[in-house]
Amino acid sequence: SEQLDTHITLAASDEACGGLLVQRLPESAPDPEAWEHVATLAQTVSAEELVQLDAHHLLYRLFHETPPRVFDAEPIEFACTCSRGKVSDMLLMLGGEEVGSVLEEQGSVEIDCDFCNAKYVFDETDINALFGMDVAAAVRGEGARIQ
Ligand SMILES: [Zn+2]
Repeated sequence: SEQLDTHITLAASDEACGGLLVQRLPESAPDPEAWEHVATLAQTVSAEELVQLDAHHLLYRLFHETPPRVFDAEPIEFACTCSRGKVSDMLLMLGGEEVGSVLEEQGSVEIDCDFCNAKYVFDETDINALFGMDVAAAVRGEGARIQ
């Protein structure tokens, strides 16, 4: 990927945090002086301004000579890509022997997602359906062997 000139400044107080990221976009007719001007202004931002001012006031204070276009704010959302299907794939990769021994020991297999704290519980019926055999019985040596 292309390396783009970037300046980033972050600040935090006990109550709030703020940051300013200025990045040079790829341009067909680069204007080094314009970029230097914007970067120089961006570097004058203080920690107090970052923490105390909203985006419009901060941008106006820094760049009022060439008023920037401000886009609507978009809400930030936490999203995790974990799913029961992905956890199932991971269990299949661990293999019937490993999963079966956990099932024998704990009565079910519980997987917690470290990112979103979702809990996935697989009981014996779920595990057997996943592996297409009686996994616990196989681990006990009572049924078909795990391939
Ligand atoms: Zn998750």
